[in-house]
Amino acid sequence: MQACIFCKIVAGEIPATVIERDDDVIVITDVNPQAPTHLLVMPVQHFANLNAFAEGANDIVVAHLFAVAARLGASAGKESADSPGGYRLVVNTGANGGQTVAHLHVHVLAGRHMTWPPG
Ligand code: 5GP
Ligand code: ZN
Repeated sequence: MQACIFCKIVAGEIPATVIERDDDVIVITDVNPQAPTHLLVMPVQHFANLNAFAEGANDIVVAHLFAVAARLGASAGKESADSPGGYRLVVNTGANGGQTVAHLHVHVLAGRHMTWPPG
C-alpha cells in the first residue's frame, strides 16, 4: 500500500517513535497525543480497518493486536498512589467511527481519567 502513511512508517520511510515491533505488530507513539500515554498498535500487514479482516483467516492477528494493546495499556495505566489505574482502547472504524488513517490501529490511551460518552 504505497500511499498509506502507516505502511510507510512500518517500512521505515516515515520516522516514528517505535515502542516495540514483532513480525505481525508494530507499536508507535501517536503524533498528536490525547492522553499522557497515547500509543497506536497496528498490524504490519495493511488492513484498512476491522471490516477488512477475514473472519477466521485473520483471527490470530486480531487476537495478537489486542493482547499487545492490553499489555501496554495495563502497564501504562497501572494503579499507583496517585492514580486508581486503568486505560482505554479505541478502534475508530470508517468515517462515522472517526477513522482518519485507513490502516487498522488500536489506540491505547492512559494516564488520565477518561469520560463517557466519547464525542
Ligand atoms: P484515527 O483517527 O484513524 O483513529 O487515528 C489516526 C491517528 O493517527 C491520530 O490519532 C493521529 O494523531 C495519528 N497520526 C496521523 N498521522 C500520523 C503520523 O504520521 N505519525 C504518527 N505517529 N501518528 C499519526
Ligand atoms: Zn497501510
